[in-house]
Amino acid sequence: MDKEWSEKNKEVQSLLSKEKTYTEAIEKLIAFREEMFQQITWIVEGYPEEAFYQMPFANAKGYHSKTLAYSIWHIFRIEDIVAHEMIAEDEQILFKDGYTKKIGSPIITTGNELVGEEIAEFSKKLNIQELYLYAKAVKDVGDQILKNLQYKDLKKKFTDETKAKLIKSGCVSEDENAFWLIDYWCGKDIKGLIQMPFSRHWIMHIEAMRRIKDKLCLIARKGVDPTAICGLSCNHCFLSEWCGGCRTNYNVCSFATCSEGRICPNVKCCNEKNIDGCYECSELENCQKGFYVPTNDGANAAKAQALYIRKYGKKEFLKVQDRLHEKFEFQKTQEILGQNYKKGLKILEDT
Ligand code: SF4
Ligand code: SF4
Repeated sequence: MDKEWSEKNKEVQSLLSKEKTYTEAIEKLIAFREEMFQQITWIVEGYPEEAFYQMPFANAKGYHSKTLAYSIWHIFRIEDIVAHEMIAEDEQILFKDGYTKKIGSPIITTGNELVGEEIAEFSKKLNIQELYLYAKAVKDVGDQILKNLQYKDLKKKFTDETKAKLIKSGCVSEDENAFWLIDYWCGKDIKGLIQMPFSRHWIMHIEAMRRIKDKLCLIARKGVDPTAICGLSCNHCFLSEWCGGCRTNYNVCSFATCSEGRICPNVKCCNEKNIDGCYECSELENCQKGFYVPTNDGANAAKAQALYIRKYGKKEFLKVQDRLHEKFEFQKTQEILGQNYKKGLKILEDT
């Protein structure tokens, strides 16, 4: 488990055990859930549709053998079922807000019964944007349920009536890979449910999602030119394993993800001019498009690097980047090169 997340989880669990630290525990848990959910947001905003049904670890043992779409569905179906059928005893978000239809899911269960190719096939059917909205709604209402709970509620246990209700809901498949969940949940008190579906279960699956997306980015990068179109180096960029590189569909640079059709203005312009990158453009020095917008702190540094590529070629550029990054991390290199693009070019030439 991620060391930092493991520590945070341990702290929350320990605070949860004492009445005087209970409120602090819930506050910290909600903040921790927000931090974890941010990773799901980045994944949904950053990656193309195809990323959500790939299984780069299909034959592995562990949560990373699933898809990104399945992981989101599974985390939030479980929380929705537990939060609403067991704790709040009201209607699940999936049904209340009509998400089954909006997401296009052929199932209402947790998905535990799906195996191998079935997981990829299921994932292909889901509308990821709607799935994300569903996950967000489940999380927000889940946070509210946590806030409304009191310390004395933690010991509440569940009866056969709850079990029967869960079975009747049809939200847990009768398949042996899934049906055990009902006994598992009903064997816990509310504190136990907070410890698993509301926190630890998230950690395990979001970590698995990170492994899946890292692998997908690695695959996307293989054999692809690491020189960014605006003059940066994808091999040295701070986005590292989050990004498949600026020349792939797994480009998570904000200039791409925030632009229409997820195409960065510099990439679009180079495509229109039918050139490999801004370093081949005669307008480079005065350009204010995309990454070169004057309000962008990194504009001058990128121009300095593009000018270096123009003068010495990509091979030399990547070597000089290696040398520069032996001394400084990405952000610092951009600061050093970015005061003035002519000076930045000179620094690169002297490195
Ligand atoms: S600004 Fe555009 S060209 Fe530059 S790294 Fe980002 S996506 Fe690539
Ligand atoms: S005009 Fe600007 S964005 Fe377009 S290719 Fe030239 S330098 Fe790049």
